[in-house]
Amino acid sequence: MSAWDLAGCLSASSVLKGDIEAGRAAHAYLFAGPAGTIKRALADVFMRALHCESDRDRPCGVCPSCRRHLAGEHPDVHVLEAVKSAIGVDEVRSLLAAISVRPLTSDKHLVLLPQAGKLTPQAQNALLKTLEEPTGDVVFILLADSPRELLPTVNSRVRLVRFVLPTVKETEDALVKSGMETGRARLLSRLSGGDMDLARRMDADKEYWALRERVKRALAELSGPASSAPCARLLKDDKDGALPILEDAARDAMVYPDDPDAVKSLDMASVIEQYAPLGQTFLEGVMSLKMRVSSNVSWVNALECLFMDISGGKTLWQP
Ligand SMILES: [Zn+2]
Repeated sequence: MSAWDLAGCLSASSVLKGDIEAGRAAHAYLFAGPAGTIKRALADVFMRALHCESDRDRPCGVCPSCRRHLAGEHPDVHVLEAVKSAIGVDEVRSLLAAISVRPLTSDKHLVLLPQAGKLTPQAQNALLKTLEEPTGDVVFILLADSPRELLPTVNSRVRLVRFVLPTVKETEDALVKSGMETGRARLLSRLSGGDMDLARRMDADKEYWALRERVKRALAELSGPASSAPCARLLKDDKDGALPILEDAARDAMVYPDDPDAVKSLDMASVIEQYAPLGQTFLEGVMSLKMRVSSNVSWVNALECLFMDISGGKTLWQP
């Protein structure tokens, strides 16, 4: 797996890799896209590649320059973070002073502004002159949620690279590429909605998987109204965690008859199949469960009502 193979926004990744391979890096970039995309991670890879001393497969990860980057110690990298709510003109002037001298260990300064949207208009104007008259030994990388966060004059001087959220399939492929077993990667990418960070956190969370097993067991053991109470007690301590899992399972049961491939809860396939004929009732029951819990009905009692509804009984409780 190369450093460029990050989950999400393959188009941005290939644009930047293409610029490196063709040796035609622009003097200023704007990476624009919502939170949850890989702007910062890809900026780090791109900066390593710009400084890399290897003559192929940049960034190589092993040359002295790559090692300085990976250790966070490259003297020609300048990161201007927003310490306060805005980045003002004085901070930009200090930055410009720092890059007015020759780079120390490479042929160019790299300037990263991770929250470029926080530059005040005056700070953007201070930056503009340098963007308009590139010196050839500096590359600027500005990150923002949208190009609209920056002045039109700044936008016209930067190469815009758009970032979009990865699809579920792209995240699945990236997890497989990173060495994960295919079934696990498919399950995690679907449960996380394609959010790579969330997928990795879920993967490592043993309690979460134990809870999914308890929900699965409660649903599987539900065999009629009489079993509602004991099955509800299986989840008595799981109010916050079990609700979203039950909601996913109910939605899956609803979509299963028309589109079995759209199911998210692949680890509960047998349960989803079991409840498919009751999909609508199951989902309405989960919605009622949420409402009851928010109106202070005890979790176990409200859960028992749901289990009554989906096991052939009839709840007497009315909202
Ligand atoms: Zn290198």
